[in-house]
Amino acid sequence: MAPPKQRKVAVMGFRAVGKSSLTIQFVEGQFVDSYDPTIENTFNKTIKVRGQEFNLQLVDTAGQDEYSIFPQAYTMDVHGYVLVYSVTSRKSYEVVQVIRDKLLDLTGAQNVPIVLVGNKTDLHMERVIPQEEGKGLADQWKCPFAESSAKEKESVNSVFQQLIMEIERQNGGGQQK
Ligand code: GDP
Ligand code: MG
Repeated sequence: MAPPKQRKVAVMGFRAVGKSSLTIQFVEGQFVDSYDPTIENTFNKTIKVRGQEFNLQLVDTAGQDEYSIFPQAYTMDVHGYVLVYSVTSRKSYEVVQVIRDKLLDLTGAQNVPIVLVGNKTDLHMERVIPQEEGKGLADQWKCPFAESSAKEKESVNSVFQQLIMEIERQNGGGQQK
């Protein structure tokens, strides 16, 4: 079998949207209710996508707002981005759009591998961003879209799988080691 591919992924978005919860749910299979919002942490997990193993390095960032200067480090060796908003926060939905603009600006790329994620779908009563609106934005960006609940473990694995597939697709089928 082909050797595992190393892929580095950054999880970004406004504060409290569930970046750490999604990452930890994916890596450890548990929902951590009170995770220090200020720290940036790196996690590793190996997953298999379409018969190929990937050693993922996941950077759970401390979060951004519309004024954040995009950290240059996140453009260096990062292969793809999980951009997370909360379906309960319009502000967080606006922030992912600012993050993407800055990302494209900095990389000078037409497109970078992104998966757009609307998290906290279990909070039905508090939803302010309809699913169609998130989907519409992802269509505009030509990127995969998922709605997730880190709490109820809904669509968590598929978020990261979709990102891997998008990274491979933009790599042109994976010549890159
Ligand atoms: P981060 O700042 O983006 O890393 O957000 P956290 O992962 O620390 O989550 C912020 C808060 O939202 C915490 O209280 C989490 O328990 C909560 N949270 C995260 N994901 C979900 C979710 O899918 N559903 C619900 N109900 N709460 C969530
Ligand atoms: Mg966090």
